[in-house]
Amino acid sequence: MPSKILYYSTNRSFSAKSFLHDFPTALLQGLAPDNGLYMPNALPTLSPTELQTLRGKSYAEVACAVLYKFLEGELPRETLLEMCQKAYNFPIPLERLGENITIARLDQGITASFKDFAAQMMAQWIQYFKPQDQQSVILVATSGDTGSAVGEAFKHLPHTSVIVLYPAQEVSAIQRHQLDSMGGNTQAIALAGKFDDCQAFVKRAFADADLAYLNLSSANSINIGRVLPQIVYYVYIWLQLAENEHETLNFCVPSGNLGNSLGCEIARRMGLPVGKLVIATNQNDAFHQFLQTGIYQKIEPSIESVSNAMNVGNPSNLARYFDLYGGCIDKHGTVRSLPALAEMRQNLLSFAVTDAETLQNIAQTYEKLGVLLEPHGAVAVEAVQRLGLVGKTVCLETAHPAKFADIVQKVLPIEVEKSEALKQIEKRVGKAISMPNDYQVFKDFLVGL
Ligand SMILES: *Cc1c(COP(=O)(O)O)cnc(C)c1O
Repeated sequence: MPSKILYYSTNRSFSAKSFLHDFPTALLQGLAPDNGLYMPNALPTLSPTELQTLRGKSYAEVACAVLYKFLEGELPRETLLEMCQKAYNFPIPLERLGENITIARLDQGITASFKDFAAQMMAQWIQYFKPQDQQSVILVATSGDTGSAVGEAFKHLPHTSVIVLYPAQEVSAIQRHQLDSMGGNTQAIALAGKFDDCQAFVKRAFADADLAYLNLSSANSINIGRVLPQIVYYVYIWLQLAENEHETLNFCVPSGNLGNSLGCEIARRMGLPVGKLVIATNQNDAFHQFLQTGIYQKIEPSIESVSNAMNVGNPSNLARYFDLYGGCIDKHGTVRSLPALAEMRQNLLSFAVTDAETLQNIAQTYEKLGVLLEPHGAVAVEAVQRLGLVGKTVCLETAHPAKFADIVQKVLPIEVEKSEALKQIEKRVGKAISMPNDYQVFKDFLVGL
């Protein structure tokens, strides 16, 4: 049997050997003890022959094939297949946009965002791997979509409570309702601050010795359990669109914390024929600037925008990108060593889109091509068009347009039909807690749980 894949910390504070943890440990800890992010110490491969054998398979089967490569030795393959079948019972609609661009809609899950792909899987992994009867508290900072995706996935897990922090003024009305009305063992907190403040609270709580007894766990994109499921849809979409085993596809990913795009970067390293990976951002363009100049400067505070799930001034998964390209950066955005920039630029492109361009793209794409986008997807399409990318390109649509109907309707006088899941959520009743931007208040709340 091949040796198991183990996980190290991007901060590399300890010698690699003394610090390798297995998948369940990395999953349940979330953040490594030195505040770095967990990374696999080897990447499994996807050969051209194997890709051919996956053609025509269901999403759940593809997911099982890809994820088992990481989890072999940790759980039986049949168990993983059952988990995948439970998690993935919704389609990925593909829509042509002109000659070379395809929109892949990752918005058909229970909360109408791509985050359902990872959250649904991760909830099952946590349930499987955590010690029976152990009480645990899952802390989530969200810019809108993570919180509901994670809350929905975890809300019925026994011995678990889920606390979701969101920036009170930066989520859409429907996102707010989704968060406040999850029910079960979840509680949403509307923080009088920005997403970065929410994320900082979560990170601080993890490092807070007074709270260790709570068994805090994270489901943010810092958790390796969030990253691995996001490899799968790149493979699945490639299987649907590539005409032969060597055909490369470009992918353009609307990005905030860079977790989604990281799935594509890993898929390429495993052997998936990916041409360029485009990281499209809103005005929170710290990554874009870094790729252009080689100088990293986080944006503080982050800038509000119409693509609010990407209002991230210091993307946490940047640490994983640095690591993959041989560099190191800590959670504060301090560069310890630079990654191989030339190599990065060969594989990655970036583009930063303004709100005005985003809105204009929503209007034009609908009027000229009959395809309805929401702001995050429009950022991706705008980036590809502005870069003039050649070759088949897939733009990910990461949320359902009805989730951002208020913004869409600013530029298009149309009714935006809700997905079935969103219609169900609309009927629920919400209960929110509002909180000042003060860590001590948050800490007292956790202690009082
Ligand atoms: C979270 C989110 C993003 C950003 O994804 P990252 O993995 O943080 O880069 C983009 N679009 C939507 C709709 C999201 O919810």
